[in-house]
Amino acid sequence: MRIGVDLGGTKIEAIALDGEGRVLWRRRVPTPRGDYDATLEAIVGLVRALESEVGAHGTVGMGIPGTLSPATGLVKNANSTWLLGRPLDRDLAERLGRPVRLANDANCLALSEATDGAGAGAAVVFGVILGTGCGGGIAVGGRILAGANAIAGEWGHNPLPWPDEGERPGPPCWCGKRGCIETWVSGPGLSRDHAEATGESATAREIVARAEAGDAAAEAAVDRYERRLARALAGVVNVLDPDVVVLGGGLSLVRRLYDHVPKLWHHWIFSDRVVTRLAPAVHGDSSGGRGAAWLW
Ligand SMILES: [Zn+2]
Repeated sequence: MRIGVDLGGTKIEAIALDGEGRVLWRRRVPTPRGDYDATLEAIVGLVRALESEVGAHGTVGMGIPGTLSPATGLVKNANSTWLLGRPLDRDLAERLGRPVRLANDANCLALSEATDGAGAGAAVVFGVILGTGCGGGIAVGGRILAGANAIAGEWGHNPLPWPDEGERPGPPCWCGKRGCIETWVSGPGLSRDHAEATGESATAREIVARAEAGDAAAEAAVDRYERRLARALAGVVNVLDPDVVVLGGGLSLVRRLYDHVPKLWHHWIFSDRVVTRLAPAVHGDSSGGRGAAWLW
């Protein structure tokens, strides 16, 4: 049995897969935001409950919003900042009595979808999580490409390319820079952009629902969002040239993206024709947990 834990900014999901990738067990709990020890306890509690209810012992892989620094072995680059500088894999291994493999959550998404999802059989898959943050990960030949600094695919903290008037220098980002792609294409990024244009506060989900209902200001905000996402992904395609770009995270549920963004991105992709597909994660928000399980 393979156990995968997806540690997100708002929820922790544990999933157990059998040898054929069938889901044996799945449960979700809220993330104890800001509290490292409580986060460890929540993960250990999920794994213990899972093993007791399934009646089997499993390997444990985990996806996190960030990664382990190859230089220090400590968590870096996490927008869940209470994880930063912690030896998360070792702390969990000690509590669970077995080694724990840890990878970036977008890498887990890319691995899951390359294994048996929207990128099955594809040579190169770029996985993107559009949620509270904006992560990216790469699977090549069905395996994660981690990179020398363990940041391969992390394009969310590059600047938004081909900026329009009013997009420079861009909003401040938690990473210390301004105008990062994440500040535009994350859920909070869409909210902020809409609020600046209208003076109204609304969540990304509310803005998308209002656009669908014909609200002109919300429609304009989603249009701006699509154009930004198209530019951000065009920059990736120009470097990596993936077969498939798979979207996960809350904003991946916005169906119009899969129609509109590929109609826009060819403006910036350096190619006469673009065959790269843009697809939602087949395994939805379980893809992170599934990819974590596939780390073993
Ligand atoms: Zn940033």
